[in-house]
Amino acid sequence: MGDLLSRRVAATPKGIGIVCDWFVQEAHNATIKSTDGRTFIDFAAGIAVLNVGHRHPRVIEAVKKQLDLFTHTAYQVSPYESYVTLAEKINDLAPIEGAKKTCFFTTGGEATENAIKIAKAHTKRYGVIAFGGSFHGRTAMAVSMTGKVTPYKAELGVGSPGVYHAYYPNALHGISTQDALRSLEHICKASISPLDVAAIIFEPVQGEGGFNPAPPDFVEGLRAFCNTHGIVLIADEVQTGFARTGKTFAMEHFNTDVDIICMAKSLGGGFPISGIVGKAQIMDAPSPGGLGGTYAGSPLATAAALEVLEIIKEEKLNQRAQQLGAQLKATLQELKEQERLKEIAQVRALGSMVAVEFFKDNHPSPELTKAVQKEAMDQGLLLLTCGSYGNVIRFLYPLTIPQEQFDRALNIITQSIRKVMA
Ligand code: PMP
Repeated sequence: MGDLLSRRVAATPKGIGIVCDWFVQEAHNATIKSTDGRTFIDFAAGIAVLNVGHRHPRVIEAVKKQLDLFTHTAYQVSPYESYVTLAEKINDLAPIEGAKKTCFFTTGGEATENAIKIAKAHTKRYGVIAFGGSFHGRTAMAVSMTGKVTPYKAELGVGSPGVYHAYYPNALHGISTQDALRSLEHICKASISPLDVAAIIFEPVQGEGGFNPAPPDFVEGLRAFCNTHGIVLIADEVQTGFARTGKTFAMEHFNTDVDIICMAKSLGGGFPISGIVGKAQIMDAPSPGGLGGTYAGSPLATAAALEVLEIIKEEKLNQRAQQLGAQLKATLQELKEQERLKEIAQVRALGSMVAVEFFKDNHPSPELTKAVQKEAMDQGLLLLTCGSYGNVIRFLYPLTIPQEQFDRALNIITQSIRKVMA
């Protein structure tokens, strides 16, 4: 059969860029074991999916119970209670004013695409404004909205008409809130009438783009712009949701009401589910059949998600996200200041959405960033990079990680950065 790495290269396309050169044997909470007998602390969590850890016993128990009842009926053919109960709970939790409705899908990209569809049905308009550095998925419409050309769009023949990108504020890279809001005005002067714009979609903290938190006055500016022109405001919380930022939804950090929130990833605790919650009269715009999907809101995933919501509450994961995030941020900040590491351009955090950005000679350095990632991996810690320039390390540990293991991971991080910067 040959070795697994050669088989992987021979059997699967190179377009799936893969971080690890090892293969997973098993995983529990914040630990992954590889087929070659190594153990890693998992600070990737399946790209922000496992806020409650790998195979949380309550999630596994709920899914096992569901396996003995039914695994699939297609909700739109034969509905089931867990979908409705989950929708009710999300309606209660979502920081959106007034009556709400929720529907479920499978991937984050499906959530963002369907949110746009709903906004278009509601407004009868075609245009969409997203932001540079954003990530909204890889399917046709979602990748059109994603604000990074390489590797997501270049030479892939993608790009839907009517999608425009404004600037997202990023003080470190010289973009102020005013610049960002002015770029909206510019798009609406140069490219599309605001009266043709159905939706503005933004991430309250950009995920793939570098863990960049939106300044509150920027989000207020978006709301005002949308109010003026009758545009639907969509928050993409696919990466920020379910306790990662210290709140169930990151939009709870803002005093601004949005019309729709997209969610996915950690909602399912490792089972594929995404969703959209929004103002009832907007959510009801598409006619029956306009929304849905064969696997959308799978009963295995809705059973898991109901448990995830309970775990977040009972294990106080919002508070835990605040504590762990504060500890990690302080550790990185101390390293930067005490050792005068000018390569650390910035440490930032909203709850446990913590990032460290690396510069060399005053320019973003993906090389340094990759070197830190590799050194940490050699020491048994799985880290992910992000950022428009690939020069940010983001930290996505399960919020259920035992304190001793978290402390060990922090040691690896400081040692890895020290070693690479030496
Ligand atoms: N939106 C955001 C904010 C994301 O971070 C992601 C995934 N990284 C997506 C959408 C797309 O999700 P999926 O890969 O499940 O389609």
